[in-house]
Amino acid sequence: MENQYAAARYDIISTMERLKDMDLRGLTEYMANIGEKPFRAKQLFKWLQSGAGSFGDMTDLSKDLREKLGRDAVIWCLKKEKEQVSRDGTRKYLMETEDGFFVETVFMKYRYGNSVCISSQAGCAMGCRFCASGVNGLERDLTPGEMTDQVLLAEGAAGGSAGHIVIMGTGEPLANFDNVKTFIENTHDPAGRGMSMRNITVSTCGIIPGIKRFTEELPQVNLAVSLHAPNDDVRNEIMPISMRYGIDELLCCCRAHAEKTGRRVTFEYALIKGLNDSDRHLSELAGRLRGMLCHVNLIPLNDVIESGLRGSGRERAEEAKIFLESRGIPCTVRRELGADIDAACGQLRLGKTGAAAH
Ligand code: SAH
Repeated sequence: MENQYAAARYDIISTMERLKDMDLRGLTEYMANIGEKPFRAKQLFKWLQSGAGSFGDMTDLSKDLREKLGRDAVIWCLKKEKEQVSRDGTRKYLMETEDGFFVETVFMKYRYGNSVCISSQAGCAMGCRFCASGVNGLERDLTPGEMTDQVLLAEGAAGGSAGHIVIMGTGEPLANFDNVKTFIENTHDPAGRGMSMRNITVSTCGIIPGIKRFTEELPQVNLAVSLHAPNDDVRNEIMPISMRYGIDELLCCCRAHAEKTGRRVTFEYALIKGLNDSDRHLSELAGRLRGMLCHVNLIPLNDVIESGLRGSGRERAEEAKIFLESRGIPCTVRRELGADIDAACGQLRLGKTGAAAH
């Protein structure tokens, strides 16, 4: 099978040290093993996290050390393959892993700053009906360095720095918890980028044990939950994960998160014609969310040809916003960015050709 071949090839390539997959502690150990002082690890970490292109650029390290690293280690875990620029300025990047998987990253410009949306897995196992990311299933988890490289390569190519990182591209981040956590901690580490945890958002389809762990271990990071339905019946139709984790327990867990962290949970709700967009659905949703520190992000569903589902349209989304707000639920309608290059939500698909199916 193609994937097994790729995995085997990955093992061979990774005999080179992948420095960006390490946190500062790991890097310090690695440096100690080659007889270097801890402050050298800190210097190296800074270079890696700030996107240095080669060991030669790391001018505060000795020449011998730079040469040794050049022989034993790699800087980049990903290679940028392709860029697509949307009419609205959104840029989508296709990047390739060492073992030949393709991942997509989106760079967005907002009035208040730039945002990068990264993938946490190559492919996705969750199988949500409306989402293009999972059509080929899960290929593999991405490593911390592969997530860092998505940010760095997108910033380099777009010519701007990201003030926000959203882990909302392909994959289910809470199904790759350890790697996502290391990536977030590396990004937050003052020895590197030093980004505030509050400028990072993780979006999950609702894996309850993952959310509980997230509340404990990453309480300052923003939590977004893809809800898309007001009850189990509707949710079961579109999100297989819902059969495993029911909406009552999910919302209970979100309430606990908001209470424990004092931070608002975002619920993503893509409006799908005839399925979850009636006043009755919205009223049920408002009932369930009543009193919770939360916010609903209404998404006009983007077309995914193979899903057979149709979006309710922007106008209905605006009506839904008024409807929910009148019932005390804070709401926004998500701005669609990059729809013309298939970079909008759910449209990131694997494969070298990006959106070839369209
Ligand atoms: N697995 C995570 C992150 C990836 S999905 C999660 O489920 O949250 C990122 C967001 O895109 C989710 O809110 C998802 O529900 C939304 N999305 C997926 N397909 C979409 C589509 N066709 N139109 C609009 N939003 C979509």
